[in-house]
Amino acid sequence: MEASFCIDGGLPRSMSNNADDCWHGDAVGVTDCTRCPALVDSRTQIVNGVGPADATLLFVGEAPGANEDEQGEPFVGRSGDVLDTGLRDIGLARQDVRITNCVRCRPPENRDPTSEERANCRDYLDREIAAVDPELIVTLGKVPGELLLDRSVAVTSEAGQIDEIDIDGERWQVLVCVHPAATLYDPSQQTAFEDALATAAEYAGDGGQSTLGEF
Ligand code: URA
Repeated sequence: MEASFCIDGGLPRSMSNNADDCWHGDAVGVTDCTRCPALVDSRTQIVNGVGPADATLLFVGEAPGANEDEQGEPFVGRSGDVLDTGLRDIGLARQDVRITNCVRCRPPENRDPTSEERANCRDYLDREIAAVDPELIVTLGKVPGELLLDRSVAVTSEAGQIDEIDIDGERWQVLVCVHPAATLYDPSQQTAFEDALATAAEYAGDGGQSTLGEF
């Protein structure tokens, strides 16, 4: 078996390309995959998406870094702190949204995932999008923006812009956003990051307020 994929509540069986996929277990995501030999060597573990399986907002990053590889969760390092703060500023908690990556294994030395690695991991992302069925997909940085929009993206100037994409005949709204790490390297990107998140908040509706509303 090359890979297993499973998400809370299961996916339609018609989406399976693997007879051994798990459709109704508790685990979420890919449990085994050997499609990218370099990443199999560099990873500690596969880092799947986290957050509600029916989230209104789905954030898509690039690939796990060292912290994510160690903890098995996307955006838990310094980028994660920036993302968490940005979410808090728009009245959301990390637990209110779903967070995933284009590529689920840490590339060696934090290099960008190659186009082949992005392609290898693409069907997992597509299946996660279909299963979660978000109102809005928020791409964090160039790699997920270009992967999902299938064109070159100038993130800084396009941040806050919403495009529609088609995946297997389904339409999805995609919001371009600056990568949280970019705000650390270049503080002038902070406003574009915050403005894009403010646009995302408009899609979150009441559902997004649930966690922070108690405090
Ligand atoms: N952490 C992630 O999970 N993804 C990124 O793109 C960057 C940091």
